Amino acid sequence: ALKAGIVGLPNVGKSTLFNAITQAGAESANYPFCTIDPNVGVVEVPDERLDKLVELVSPKSIVPTAFEFVDIAGLVAGASKGEGLGNKFLAHIREVDAIVHVVRCFQDENITHVSGKVDPISDIQVINLELILADIDSVDRKIERSRKNLKSGDKKIAQEVEVLERLKEALYNDQPARSVELTDDEKQLVRDLHLLTMKPVLYAANVSEAEVANADGNEYVQQVRDFAAKENAEVVPISARVESEIAELEGEDKEMFLEELGLSESGLNRLIRAAYKLLGLYTYFTAGVQEVRAWTIRSGTKAPQAAGVIHTDFERGFIRAEVVSYTDLVAAGTMVAARERGQVRLEGKDYVVRDGDVMHFRFNV
Ligand code: GDP
Repeated sequence: ALKAGIVGLPNVGKSTLFNAITQAGAESANYPFCTIDPNVGVVEVPDERLDKLVELVSPKSIVPTAFEFVDIAGLVAGASKGEGLGNKFLAHIREVDAIVHVVRCFQDENITHVSGKVDPISDIQVINLELILADIDSVDRKIERSRKNLKSGDKKIAQEVEVLERLKEALYNDQPARSVELTDDEKQLVRDLHLLTMKPVLYAANVSEAEVANADGNEYVQQVRDFAAKENAEVVPISARVESEIAELEGEDKEMFLEELGLSESGLNRLIRAAYKLLGLYTYFTAGVQEVRAWTIRSGTKAPQAAGVIHTDFERGFIRAEVVSYTDLVAAGTMVAARERGQVRLEGKDYVVRDGDVMHFRFNV
C-alpha cells in the first residue's frame, strides 16, 4: 500500500494529528484501525463522486478507497549522524512514498518549543538539513562505487554518474534532490537510492484552535506558504488539537462542531485529499448493485493492472474493460442512458485509466 509519512520536530503536534487520523480510521467498518503496527493509520479518502454514484446505483454496500499514514516521530537535529535514534527514523522515511511535514505555527507558552521560540522556517530547515545530509551520504557513496565501474565504458554508468553529480551539487547547496529537474529515464537511474529529499512533500501548518477558521491570518502560516511556494510544495493549515476533538464526534454532533468553528469540512479531510494528490494517485470506480467502490491506482496505470488492484485473476485473465467517465455517467443519469448516448467505451489492454473512470472488467477465469 502507498504510504505518507508524518515527520516534524518534537512538540509540533505530530502525535496529536496522528491520533486524530487513527481515531477517524477506527470508526470505519471497511478499514478498521490495524493494531499490528501502532505507527500506521489507515484513512479513507473522502470523495464526493462516490456519494453521487451511490445515489445513482443504490448499492448494498459502499467502500471508499484508502491509504496509510505512518507516524515517524523522533527526528531531531543530528539524526543523519546517527544521533539518538536518528538512523532508524531516516530508514522509516526511506520507506514512505510521500512526506507530510508538520510545522508548529501555534503559540502556547505551556508547550515547550525545542529551539525556544516558534519559528516554522527554521524548524523546516532543521529537518530538511538532516534529510539532505543523509542524501549526501547516499549520493557520495554511490558516486564512488559507480566511478570504479566507469572504466568498463558502459554508457549507462557514465550517464548515471552525470545525474549523480547534478544531484550532489544541489544537495551541497542545501537544495533538496526534488529541486533537480530530471527526465523519467534519469529518475530511473537513481531510483534505487531512495533519496529522502526526492520524495514529494506537503507542509501541515499546525495552528491554534482560535485560528482554524482564518488560518491565513497567522503570520507563520504565511511564512510557510512563501517557503513552500519556492519548492512547489503544498501547504495545508490544520489544527491538530481541533482535529483530535472532531475525530471523537460523529454525525450531527460533528456537523455542529464544524459549523461552530466556521469550517465546511474537517482539516483532516483536506489533508487526506492533499496527500492523495501528492502521492500521484488516481481513483477509478466500480459501480454495481452489490457494491459501489473506489479503487486507487498510480497515474499512468493501464487497464489490466488497474483490474489487478481488485484481484490478480482480473489482471491475468483480462479481456477488455467497459469504461464510462464519471462525468458522462452522472450527466446521463443511468448506465443504460450512458450506453444509448454512446458514452460507454470498450477499451483494451493498452488503455491508460483516467481519474474518475467507472470501469467494468471482462476477464477469463
Ligand atoms: P509531537 O511531539 O510532535 O508528536 O507533538 P504532540 O502531538 O505530542 O504535541 C505536543 C504538545 O502540543 C501536546 O501537549 C499537544 O497537546 C500540544 N498541541 C498540539 N497541537 C496543538 C495546538 O494546535 N494548540 C495548542 N495550544 N497545543 C497543541
